[in-house]
Amino acid sequence: MKRRIFIKNAALTGAGVAVGSSLLSCADSENKENKELEIASTTNSKASLPLVIATWHVIDATAKAMEVLEADGTALDAVEQGCRVEEANEKGQSVGKGGLPDREGNVTLDACIMDKHGNCGSVVYLQNITHAVSVARKVMEDTPHVMLAGKGAEQFALEQGFKKENLLTEASKKAWSAWKVESKYKPIINIENHDTIGMLAIDKNGDISGACTTSGLAYKMAGRVGDSPIIGSGLFVDNEIGGCVATGLGEEVVKTVGSFLVVELMRQGKSPQQACEEAIGRIVNKPNSDYKNFQVGYIAVNKKGETGSYSIHQWFSMTKFQDGVNEQIQSDFFNKA
Ligand code: ASP
Repeated sequence: MKRRIFIKNAALTGAGVAVGSSLLSCADSENKENKELEIASTTNSKASLPLVIATWHVIDATAKAMEVLEADGTALDAVEQGCRVEEANEKGQSVGKGGLPDREGNVTLDACIMDKHGNCGSVVYLQNITHAVSVARKVMEDTPHVMLAGKGAEQFALEQGFKKENLLTEASKKAWSAWKVESKYKPIINIENHDTIGMLAIDKNGDISGACTTSGLAYKMAGRVGDSPIIGSGLFVDNEIGGCVATGLGEEVVKTVGSFLVVELMRQGKSPQQACEEAIGRIVNKPNSDYKNFQVGYIAVNKKGETGSYSIHQWFSMTKFQDGVNEQIQSDFFNKA
């Protein structure tokens, strides 16, 4: 994920332990670059197909997905292939191989996928397998279940011929070691960065599918699972209406069943942009919302091919490939204070 916007954290305490959440910031050069990007404040009404959108700046992933779509591939194949690009990218420290580990040094992946029929598959707390999104697809297509977790998910993946790999790269190990020093002296305040790749595509037949994949919050508690593998939270697709994927602090997305909410708001007539904004509103307008200390972002597409994206804080972006243009679009955001 080139020029990925990383998010720093403020403190968030829960269950007696410190759990990081997100806020802003990245390298100055990246900020400048992003300032020049157009804010996606209104719904894009261009509707030519096929199209693919993804969270963050992942032009290689959207390019791969578009290659599949242009070759008359399905939206399902496109989102799987697109997500695999970032899972294999060891430089991306929030997805697949090279993802930052939990507090104990384990890289654990969450992923899910959903097709035009409303079928879905998901893996949670998957270890030692790079392509979690493909395992999720296998769960969807080759088992009577929707979700496999932990050892069972890994065993299933190995049985399906997936390669066992050590996902903890030297760079992530180093980052984890550095974090451990900090955590010793500042047990409440953690700093971590995170972002999930979530992707939605509409193929030449007008059918919609979606997928998302992540290593979750860096330095999370062992066993923690976020929103990304939870159908309706991290991802939801209804081929009659549209689709949505989420990124950011998964706990907040789960509490509002964010992606399902966005799709239901579109069903009620809202544009993708309006729906994303209202779903963020549900989080920030809660009494005592701590939103200043975490980030959540949504991207969405409707059946007409209109798209939208919105986040709590600045520097969330969407990559969109449509009509031969593969571009990063800076999202509008709530917290302008
Ligand atoms: N939503 C993911 C999670 O909470 C993390 C992210 O998007 O950065 O696991």
